[in-house]
Amino acid sequence: MKLFWKQFFSISVLIAVSLVLLGNVILQVTFVTNVTHERESDEKELWLFRYSLEASFEALPDKYPVGESTAVDIVKNIYENVDGGQDYIRIWRSDGFLLYENRSLAEEKWGIKINVGEGATRIRKVGERHYVESVILLEIDSGTIAVEKFRDIEYVYEIQQKILQIYIVVLGAMILLSFPVAALISRSITKPVRDLNILTNRLAKGDYDSRAKVRGSDEFAELTRHFNKMADNLQDNIIKLENFTGAFAHEMRTPLTSIIGYSEMLLTMDMPESDRITCAGYINSQGKRLEKLSNKMLELSGIAHDEIRFEEINVMDLFEAVDEIVSFSLSKKCVTLKKSAKAGVIYGDRDLVITFLSNLIDNARKAVGQGGVIELNAEEIKYGRCQQTFQGSDSIDCAGDGDNCKKADCTIITVRDDGIGIDDDEVKRITEAFYMVDKSRSRKEGGAGLGLALCEEIIKLHKWQWNIQSIKGVGTQIEIIIPEVRHET
Ligand code: ADP
Repeated sequence: MKLFWKQFFSISVLIAVSLVLLGNVILQVTFVTNVTHERESDEKELWLFRYSLEASFEALPDKYPVGESTAVDIVKNIYENVDGGQDYIRIWRSDGFLLYENRSLAEEKWGIKINVGEGATRIRKVGERHYVESVILLEIDSGTIAVEKFRDIEYVYEIQQKILQIYIVVLGAMILLSFPVAALISRSITKPVRDLNILTNRLAKGDYDSRAKVRGSDEFAELTRHFNKMADNLQDNIIKLENFTGAFAHEMRTPLTSIIGYSEMLLTMDMPESDRITCAGYINSQGKRLEKLSNKMLELSGIAHDEIRFEEINVMDLFEAVDEIVSFSLSKKCVTLKKSAKAGVIYGDRDLVITFLSNLIDNARKAVGQGGVIELNAEEIKYGRCQQTFQGSDSIDCAGDGDNCKKADCTIITVRDDGIGIDDDEVKRITEAFYMVDKSRSRKEGGAGLGLALCEEIIKLHKWQWNIQSIKGVGTQIEIIIPEVRHET
């Protein structure tokens, strides 16, 4: 069943049940109050009647004994004066003999025991009508008599019946009215879900520009916001993937074209031994280029799926390890690597950090001339600058947990060279996969534009920040800002 219908039925049932319950309670309370009121007013009347009777008996001269006929006369007299004889009156002797009744009504006597001088009332149905029946026992000279009175209160039941009929009509109308109300409420509640449904359908069909409208600030609005964010990320990733695939195909095509061309020449043409060796050499070097490209690609995809292992890394040891790796290639160009570590330790994945720094130094090597200088520095900076760099990101707010939490400082590692530098508008793009500032120069150096893309992944995995500053013809400086926070693995 669709969410709309679930909501619709739930709301309708809720409204109907509430109306029925509320109506019943009101009807019941009104009815009980009315009947109780009628009964209580008869109770009061009963006591008044009793006092009137006693006063009348006492007012008789002593020589007149209060016999049955006198009592009947007095009772009749008082009743006729009090209510004009509208009610039904019966007078019984204690042995059950009916001494008087003004009209014939019920057969049975009052069956409940009461004592002389007391009175009682009850609601009684006789035939099709309801009465308040009240009875009082009186002591007269000839014995005990019971005076019984029936007052018709059928009008209370008739009013109740009328109210019930009106209530049923109003209830029916309100239930009918509740359907469009429930439909409207349900529609507005399920609107964000329907919007998300449409959005997912569009995304599934490849329309990555679609977004759902965020309405209000409830949980659905939050879900919609998150969903839109997810769609943004999805779109970004798809664009990146498309660019990546295009660039990758392009990078593959150049060496493959050479390999195919030279191999065809070898297969189809008669050529001197020296030319044959040259062709084979080209095929070999282009093959190696493809191999390098595939290794870099594997490294890049490996990093994206790798679990990162944070450990304490001594910065000086780290610099030494990097130096060992790059020293051979630097020496070929007589490039000097100047290292200075004014920082103790950082937390990160040692192997990835070594790969990262080696890549940066290798790029610097390619940028500097023969006998150039590359600087590799590390220093600690205080929380304030650290916070500025991370713009309030929670990754730097605390070093340690709970009570041990203290504001974190940062370590900055800088790789600086005095090489050819990069144009401003190109600096923004050099971390894109396969992006090369000078393609032919980069390819000649064995590059494929994947080194900095790899570095970007490493930065993301560590949740670090970096910034690249470069001035064409002056040199390049790359800063890596590392918060002093130990991420648990
Ligand atoms: P590659 O593997 O081809 O070196 P990278 O992704 O490492 O690719 O670098 C991308 C581009 O950025 C390179 O083509 C290079 O021209 C430029 N670049 C990177 N570092 C520097 C630097 N220190 N000085 C000048 N140019 C640089």
